[in-house]
Amino acid sequence: MDKAQNLLDCIGNTPLLRLNKLSEQTGCEILGKAEFMNPGGSVKDRAALGMVRAAVASKQLKPGGTLVEGTAGNTGIGLALVGAAMGFKSVIVMPENQSRGKIDTLRAHGAEVRLIPPVPYKNPAHFVHTSGRIAAAMNEESPNSAFWPNQFENLDNRRFHETTTGPEIWAQTDGKVDGFVCAVGTGGTLGGVARALKARKPEVVIALADPGGSALHNYFANGELKLEGSSISEGIGNSRITANLADTPIDLSWQIPDSDAIPMIYRLIREEGLVLGGSSGINVVGAVRLAEQLGPGHTIVTILCDSATRYMERLFNAEFLASKGLELPEWFAPRR
Ligand code: PMP
Repeated sequence: MDKAQNLLDCIGNTPLLRLNKLSEQTGCEILGKAEFMNPGGSVKDRAALGMVRAAVASKQLKPGGTLVEGTAGNTGIGLALVGAAMGFKSVIVMPENQSRGKIDTLRAHGAEVRLIPPVPYKNPAHFVHTSGRIAAAMNEESPNSAFWPNQFENLDNRRFHETTTGPEIWAQTDGKVDGFVCAVGTGGTLGGVARALKARKPEVVIALADPGGSALHNYFANGELKLEGSSISEGIGNSRITANLADTPIDLSWQIPDSDAIPMIYRLIREEGLVLGGSSGINVVGAVRLAEQLGPGHTIVTILCDSATRYMERLFNAEFLASKGLELPEWFAPRR
């Protein structure tokens, strides 16, 4: 019998998908790692599994315990399903400006969702600090009852990508990968994949695709952590260098505007039948830029992080888009 023992066995080993039209356009092989096909619908299932498995192994997480995390949503969905499959409850602290789709999905996975106002990281009311305090209070009341994954600083996040996502990309391209590019939220994906690929092929080019509203491109290009612009993409961008991103070998970086990334989302729907979220648009535009930089004949890999179904009320809402200077494609049928 060929069966998965539980849902956790279905995390990872995602297909590497050729983006045909963009490959033809650039003369490169443009390949997307289909992370939206993970059971929780995003690349963050991997981080969740990596952090929870390590916490169980180190006995930080005890049977019957509760996972308490601050997240833009996708890590929470991953934690809720990994937790449920392993017998842990989840409390998810999230900024209230995130998409309804992610909040509803979290609740459907049985997580307790606590929505709080979005504030800058340096404010103690930021969702990351708030989740840490909730976990600490639970542990004070009942020792070892809560585990705070702390995904931004917990290197088990990056390590899981270094030992799964990176080696999968290496094997799926038969070692022919020339460049890898993606955006950064925690930096777990870029940090882990970059390390895995550089260890196997030092000349592989690693690039950062940064959205508006993030300080990271400026940091890598000019050495200054300076926020610029804004983006409707969610889960990516950062104002600080997290432990997961620190010392990542990054060769190139771009700030990708929504005016490039969002039309790319619509293009992928029409050209490839792929219905992806905003961060994937940033990543795929990054892949095209990397292909143009390296020239024809190269193999470029990026991450297809999650599905647009999580962001319906934004990505397919003409009024919302217009408020951001963006528009729906002509072929999109207006709602009646
Ligand atoms: N895309 C989406 C939709 C995400 O939710 C995240 C994580 N917040 C990322 C990309 C970035 O992944 P990482 O945290 O590994 O940098």
